[in-house]
Amino acid sequence: MREKLFRAIEKRRDEMAALTADLIRFPTVNPPGEDYAPCAEFVGRRLKQSGFGVKFVRGEGTPGDTDRYPRTNVIGRFDGRSPGETVHFNSHIDVVEAGRGWTVDPFGGEIRDGRVYGRGACDMKGGLAASIIAAEAFIEVFPDFPGAIEISGTVDEESGGFGGVAYLAKQGYFSKPRVDHVIIPEPLNKDRICLGHRGVWWAEIETKGEIAHGSMPFLGDCAVRHMGAVLDAFERDLFPALDRKQTRMPVVPEGARRSTMNINSVHGGQTEDFRPGLPSPNVPDSCRLTIDRRFLLEEDISAVKNEVTTILDRLKRERPKFDYRIRDVMEVLPNMTERDAPVVTAIAAGIQEIFDREPDYVISPGTYDQKHVARIGHLFNCIAYGPGILDLAHRPDEWVGIDDMVESAKVMAIGLDILLQGGRGA
Ligand SMILES: [Zn+2]
Repeated sequence: MREKLFRAIEKRRDEMAALTADLIRFPTVNPPGEDYAPCAEFVGRRLKQSGFGVKFVRGEGTPGDTDRYPRTNVIGRFDGRSPGETVHFNSHIDVVEAGRGWTVDPFGGEIRDGRVYGRGACDMKGGLAASIIAAEAFIEVFPDFPGAIEISGTVDEESGGFGGVAYLAKQGYFSKPRVDHVIIPEPLNKDRICLGHRGVWWAEIETKGEIAHGSMPFLGDCAVRHMGAVLDAFERDLFPALDRKQTRMPVVPEGARRSTMNINSVHGGQTEDFRPGLPSPNVPDSCRLTIDRRFLLEEDISAVKNEVTTILDRLKRERPKFDYRIRDVMEVLPNMTERDAPVVTAIAAGIQEIFDREPDYVISPGTYDQKHVARIGHLFNCIAYGPGILDLAHRPDEWVGIDDMVESAKVMAIGLDILLQGGRGA
């Protein structure tokens, strides 16, 4: 039966490449959320043809949702002959802007030398196509399978997923009993299983000052100099401490196997855009800094915040006139599915069978839609697994290998066989 399943996928090889190319030709660039509805409708038509019941759900009122740019999601469900568990493949249909440096048309869907090129080829329209083909092949070979298969195309993953997976999760689309297993075909490579991601805390820190004439700065109080003191304290005390924090999470790349913090932006004083005139001489009374702190499973978010406020409070005690304000911008807790979760062991068995080796288990340095499945859907049986090379994501001349998609689709189909019917197709 496995051979039959593999043949059913191999005979769809060209169709899978063409489907990927068709998806790339919708320039679903986010922001602003271009072409979401036509792309979702295209996926919906395809799934309907294959016998799926299809629903469109618009993320009404979520960031960026307007009649010009509706946040249109598509969910297809194929119910088997008898009740059982549900496996859900979730792919985001949005892509980041093309940027410069391309040698092919980023939205042309060019197929050449065994690859499909274009923005979103690996992240993640190739993964969406592979999951559709895997499901169609599985349904053809096992028409009487128990349980159900769901495939969704969701929006806004690149900007936090609020109009996509988060919106659907709030409506129960990513919770038991509707769904038992979730696979997100992000481009983590065909032989790796991504178990989760590090946590995120974004915050804005503002230092206060007092405006005065720039020729007499001693009459005022410079907020930018206060922020300089903050940065200096971070350099001396915070960054070395973060560097020392190691994690048991297998984050890739290895440099991210520690706590990290990026200074995302600093703004102080008047605008830097002096055209058409010149700035007036003022002592700035406000300076704002945005931090992007990535934290580990071993760290508590309140401790993560305390590390920063402790430094700011110390400056307040020690530095004359220093005052600050801090505001949370976003927080996401770290997430790691256990290795013995059913979806992990099923996909691991598929990788073992196709590649004759154990999978690599990895953790993503940044977050993706798994956070919403866990936090809102309370489903802790979710992974990212899909074709494509992570380093190509968001780059010029992005591509996905057709052989890689075929092999990944086989792993996904084995996963379906194991999760839905105990591997009777083996
Ligand atoms: Zn992605």
